[in-house]
Amino acid sequence: MRRLLAGLVDLIFPPRCTGCGRVLGDDDRPPFCPACQAEVRLLRSPLCTRCGAPFDGGDADHLCGACLTAPPGFTLARSVARYESVLLDAIHRFKYGRDAALGRALGRFMTRYPCPGMEIDADARIIPVPLHVDRLRERGFNQALILARELARPGGQTVDFLSLKRRHATDPQVRLGRDARRRNIRGAFVVTRPERVADRKILLVDDVYTTGSTVGECARVLLAHQAAEVAVLTLARA
Ligand SMILES: [Zn+2]
Ligand SMILES: [Zn+2]
Repeated sequence: MRRLLAGLVDLIFPPRCTGCGRVLGDDDRPPFCPACQAEVRLLRSPLCTRCGAPFDGGDADHLCGACLTAPPGFTLARSVARYESVLLDAIHRFKYGRDAALGRALGRFMTRYPCPGMEIDADARIIPVPLHVDRLRERGFNQALILARELARPGGQTVDFLSLKRRHATDPQVRLGRDARRRNIRGAFVVTRPERVADRKILLVDDVYTTGSTVGECARVLLAHQAAEVAVLTLARA
């Protein structure tokens, strides 16, 4: 019955590409048609071995200057693709247009393009970067949790959205530089259930990696509670 209904819904509202609006064919994978999918630039080597920053030249991975001078708290950070063009539009529609179904499609998109060198251990805990309750009320959902749930689906990892909390709403980070962001975010997160964090491998999930200050601060707090290691996976990288 449910499948019949879903079929009927697809007939009346066929799934469309979120990039160009074209009706998707049976072999197309939402949220993009093949033409829009081709515009998405996956992040591949050469990358910083630590933070995943892409390099323009060369072909070998190595540490970037920022990670050499100030090593981030996390062990490893990777992003699936660049935050631009159709992917940027899709993420905006997901977050600000409150399109949770699009978010789930973007989560499945993340599972289709695993980042080389980063497999998600079966016993890892997946923690979405938390939103402050005020922001959660405003948006209706935490975009990172929607992505995390899709990421955990194939391997059955535990998604833990209760052990790490955001205790104060920070000023929007958008216009701040790297150092200002780091100061702005300091102390914003708290571990509420330390026993769920200690000795665990943790994968932090978020939608966009910008300077890494938010995930870096989450990692710092988790490691202070004896997390075994903290890796970071985001859908897009600015
Ligand atoms: Zn398209
Ligand atoms: Zn780096």
